Amino acid sequence: MTTADRSYRLGAADSADVLVVGAGLAGLNTATLLARQGHDVLVVERRTNLAAAIRTTGIFVRKTLDDFPLPPDCLGPPIRRVVLYPPDLRRPVSLTSPRDEYRVGDMAPLYEASAAAAAAAGVRIALGTRYAGRQGNTFHLAGRDEPTAVRARFVVGADGARSRVARDLALDRNRHLIVGAEEVFELAGSHEPPTFHCVLDPSLAPGYLAWVVNDGQHAHVGVAGYADRYPDGLRRAVERFSGSAPGLSGVERPGTVERRGGPIPVGGLLRRISCADGLLVGDAAGAVSPLTAGGLDPCLRQSELAADVLNDALRSGDSDTLANYDGAALRTRFRGRLMLRRGLAQVRTPTTAAAAFTLLRTPFGKAAASRVLFGDRSFPDPTPK
Ligand SMILES: Cc1cc2nc3c(=O)[nH]c(=O)nc-3n(C[C@H](O)[C@H](O)[C@H](O)COP(=O)(O)OP(=O)(O)OC[C@H]3O[C@@H](n4cnc5c(N)ncnc54)[C@H](O)[C@@H]3O)c2cc1C
Repeated sequence: MTTADRSYRLGAADSADVLVVGAGLAGLNTATLLARQGHDVLVVERRTNLAAAIRTTGIFVRKTLDDFPLPPDCLGPPIRRVVLYPPDLRRPVSLTSPRDEYRVGDMAPLYEASAAAAAAAGVRIALGTRYAGRQGNTFHLAGRDEPTAVRARFVVGADGARSRVARDLALDRNRHLIVGAEEVFELAGSHEPPTFHCVLDPSLAPGYLAWVVNDGQHAHVGVAGYADRYPDGLRRAVERFSGSAPGLSGVERPGTVERRGGPIPVGGLLRRISCADGLLVGDAAGAVSPLTAGGLDPCLRQSELAADVLNDALRSGDSDTLANYDGAALRTRFRGRLMLRRGLAQVRTPTTAAAAFTLLRTPFGKAAASRVLFGDRSFPDPTPK
């Protein structure tokens, strides 16, 4: 049975301890952890099917795979090899880790598995239901039936990069975003080892990267960058890249491919992410690495902190405890990554990108790239109190 089959139907006088807006990884995980602590949790999600309109490539890094029990049947083969290319794709820099570094999630079943875990913990999930605003502790929802309202003690904004909940709670909002899009298709195997190919070409991916992930089971071919800097738009950039993308020799692109895409906040964790009425998690909180644009590890790690803080507030009846959920304190740990993001944003011409490769080909450059790509960094643990 899928989440759509058991989607909760809202009643006229529904209420919950916590209303979670958004059934991405951050929302589902926060909801599950809260329900396991005995709280009554309602998740509302505007999509009608969690396996559709996926917005992520789904690359999980080693530290996430080590620390969280993701269902192994929802993960692709381990990847140890990364190849970095300049705009002309010549003389790429190949880096191989002695350890398994990445695995690509099969995201449709993985979201379904997360929702099933939430439901098993007692979370009610209402699909096809959009959060539309609030008045105090009454939250307005628009869904398949009549518009309705629910009362909740706290609200969790897990509603992505352009969070409506953040706006309504007067919390900080993401201002520094890139946009990404990719094509995904199945592969019948590969003679090459599973590889993550990254192309630094500002005409394809202005301020970020174009990528091909080929793990032998699926190919992901995508680009991401600053929306206003794509010379002829994001869609055209994906098309252009997919015609010349490395790492796919001998692979025939099928006529129909899955398309994914969306905004990615890269300004670092926001400072004000909680107030007496609720808090933000995941993309809504800006919890994405400004350098790698990885947001899946933060979703899982930050939701643990969010659930702990909400549990304390619900048990003590003291909403002041939500002040412990402080983005400003955690944000300082992003300083290095924010600096490198600024550097990447400055790569505006193919000539600058090619020059960066002169440095990257040196032993120092390779060691620095390996540290970023194969390092142990993840979303920071909360500051000790
Ligand atoms: C193209 C692309 C590729 C990426 N690849 C990777 C990667 O490989 N590895 C990695 O670590 N990170 C990657 N990221 C980033 C990562 O996917 C995100 O950081 C992460 O998925 C965010 O999860 P979330 O739960 O915070 O938000 P989301 O997954 O965006 O979930 C938010 C949910 O809220 C719902 N919602 C929004 N508004 C409302 C509303 N008003 N009412 C009800 N529901 C609402 C949305 O429908 C959505 O389901 C990528 C991002 C993009 C765009």
